[in-house]
Amino acid sequence: MVTCPSCGEENPEHARFCLACGAALIAPEQRRKERKYATALFADLVGSTTLAEREDPEVVQSVVGRAFDRLAEEIGRYEGLLEKFMGDAVLAVFGVPRAHEDDAERCESASRPERCSSTRSALVALATGCSRATP
Ligand SMILES: [Zn+2]
Repeated sequence: MVTCPSCGEENPEHARFCLACGAALIAPEQRRKERKYATALFADLVGSTTLAEREDPEVVQSVVGRAFDRLAEEIGRYEGLLEKFMGDAVLAVFGVPRAHEDDAERCESASRPERCSSTRSALVALATGCSRATP
């Protein structure tokens, strides 16, 4: 039995709202809490500092932009969530908000360096890594 926090009525275990007064029997914060496995992808642009020292800012912007666009495309293709860009690094998550059985494989597939080969000609490359963890 679940006791209503509002009126004290005893309600069946499966009730989500009080049968007497209609108050929610489970706090909204409790309902949203959920433990999920997630795989994080971290990508860092190697060689961008050297590139920035040698090239025009427009060239650097173009090369870095192309590398990140290509990576963002791959992350989207494998249904990952692009969390944020931090300077010359990218953080993405697989398994949140929607989990797949193969999120770790999806992360690995999205992070394959050969998929970002367009940047190699400009002497920059994406160093990527996947890490699976429980919250
Ligand atoms: Zn009640």
